[in-house]
Amino acid sequence: MSRIRLLPETLANQIAAGEVVQRPASVVKELLENAIDAGATDIKLIVKDGGKTLIQVVDNGIGMDEVDARMSFERHATSKISSSEDLFRIMTKGFRGEALASIAAVSHVEMRTRPENADLGTLLRLEGGKVVGQEPVATPKGTSVAVKNLFFNVPARRKFLKSAQVEMRHVTDEFQRVALAHPEIAFTLIHNGNEVYRLPPAKPLQRIGHIFGRKMIDRLVPVNEQTDYVRIHGYTGKPEFAKQRRGEQFFFVNRRFVKSGYLHSAVMQAYEGLLPEKRYPPYFIFFDIDPGHIDINIHPTKTEIKFDDEYTVYNLLRASVRHALGKFDQMPGIDFDLDPELIPRKRQDAGKLHTPQVKVNPDFNPFRDENATPFLQEPKAQIPSHPSREDKADQWQALQELFSAENDGAQQETPSFQWQRKYIVTQTREGLMIVHQHRAHKSMLFHRLQAQMQAGDLPMQQLMFPEVWEYLPEEIRLLEKNLDALARTGIDASIENGTLVVQAIPAHATVAQIKEYVEELLAHWAEDIPLESGQLEKFMLLSLAEKTAIRSGQELGASEQQQLLAELLALPEPRFDPSGKPNFVIIPAEQIDRQF
Ligand code: ADP
Ligand code: MG
Repeated sequence: MSRIRLLPETLANQIAAGEVVQRPASVVKELLENAIDAGATDIKLIVKDGGKTLIQVVDNGIGMDEVDARMSFERHATSKISSSEDLFRIMTKGFRGEALASIAAVSHVEMRTRPENADLGTLLRLEGGKVVGQEPVATPKGTSVAVKNLFFNVPARRKFLKSAQVEMRHVTDEFQRVALAHPEIAFTLIHNGNEVYRLPPAKPLQRIGHIFGRKMIDRLVPVNEQTDYVRIHGYTGKPEFAKQRRGEQFFFVNRRFVKSGYLHSAVMQAYEGLLPEKRYPPYFIFFDIDPGHIDINIHPTKTEIKFDDEYTVYNLLRASVRHALGKFDQMPGIDFDLDPELIPRKRQDAGKLHTPQVKVNPDFNPFRDENATPFLQEPKAQIPSHPSREDKADQWQALQELFSAENDGAQQETPSFQWQRKYIVTQTREGLMIVHQHRAHKSMLFHRLQAQMQAGDLPMQQLMFPEVWEYLPEEIRLLEKNLDALARTGIDASIENGTLVVQAIPAHATVAQIKEYVEELLAHWAEDIPLESGQLEKFMLLSLAEKTAIRSGQELGASEQQQLLAELLALPEPRFDPSGKPNFVIIPAEQIDRQF
């Protein structure tokens, strides 16, 4: 008997249909989920041009006979649900029985499928939802669905698709989510003939390592909590490795990827006091829960979720992450149950939870003369914006004028002090001046770097040992495209064996700072915001200045404070940073008097 039945009309209406196919990634999601529901242990995703030309999923699952193959493209045809009650007990991925029908309606589809017990399989061709061919075919057990020319008959939608690169990002996201949720299944992703991922069956943590690189494994701690209501398990990032971009943050409920601001805030609360501002830890958190307690049908693309007891889930999640971070602190050398291949070589740090702190390089002296750097490629001529001796004299004069107190310009040292390791406080004729040290230095660096870049003469230092940085394949592609832009901001790098090899960096910067800078650029490029070239350069320079400027939290000696004040006041517009925020405030004496 056929496994597939038609949903009763009323039930069909109970199900919020929504738009199934929005872009290639939505097709990828539906096809991968069907393959999983079919019990496949090996799934291949083959994509061309970000899915705009071809999306093909090949599985070794149970396959379909001739009748089921035809039925599978009928709207509301599903083998996975037959009554209203079932709706609330769904464990399989698909249940609306409309994915294949919707996909076929807007593309050219070729399906090959064979159940184990049949000698021959079925080849079915559809165009715009109409069957245009059916024949017996020799094909391996399982199912292959090839979707070509998506939206060929809906030009408005086709036009709406983004570049192949952007669509591929969405496809990759979808692939990663499904692969993370099903580590026991082998997955392969091939794009334009290149193998992007080949993931063998693995344990959950190994799968994370295979997707995000083995370094990631060393940055995670296990989360584990079990109650009658829900089981929470997975991994969360050690605070000190938190990044500036969100990204590797995943929730899965009953192995279905979900987005939830609510759950995210529970995790972030667990990190309270452990993270510097604007840092995001990676996390991979799985919830196992009776499907009766959740509503997965509130959103047509099914990535949002509602628990019937949200409050409990929130508190439990926060507590279990907090617990994981705390436990990790006291228990060095947790056994990650890893395949030895995946255990990172350096484990000596793995057992300790470092108190997060603002990174400060004690050797970093922003005031040093670049030409004195031992690793400098070659001594560079001073460029005009770099304060020459005369310029410096001017600066001092301007400074002294502003600073000279009422006692008739007695040319004394301007006393200043640092407050909260964040502000430099000094007196001026107009009142008490409070300078934001980071922003002031950033503004100064921005102007200097801009002038140096325009002169094509940004001082660089050759690294004694080239740095080799690992990134995801798609990030490497972005870097490769932007090597020239990097070079203009003083980074001499190349792509070798899928890594970024850095030979030289700007003379005033440290390796760690440049790494952060490159990470920020990657996050920016990945967003694919089109910028005119001038804007892009400004963005890069701002970011470079930001990353290499004195930080809040860095202690500054008296002469460093003085020099920063001098350089600040020598800027064409000392009051504001390049994005318009104040570099300093002056509190007039009257205002202070009024307080007393
Ligand atoms: P749903 O997954 O919601 O049931 P679909 O339109 O995605 O609806 O699929 C319709 C039916 O076709 C499924 O219920 C399943 O029986 C069958 N099917 C789809 N893809 C596969 C596959 N890869 N292997 C076996 N059966 C499949
Ligand atoms: Mg489905």
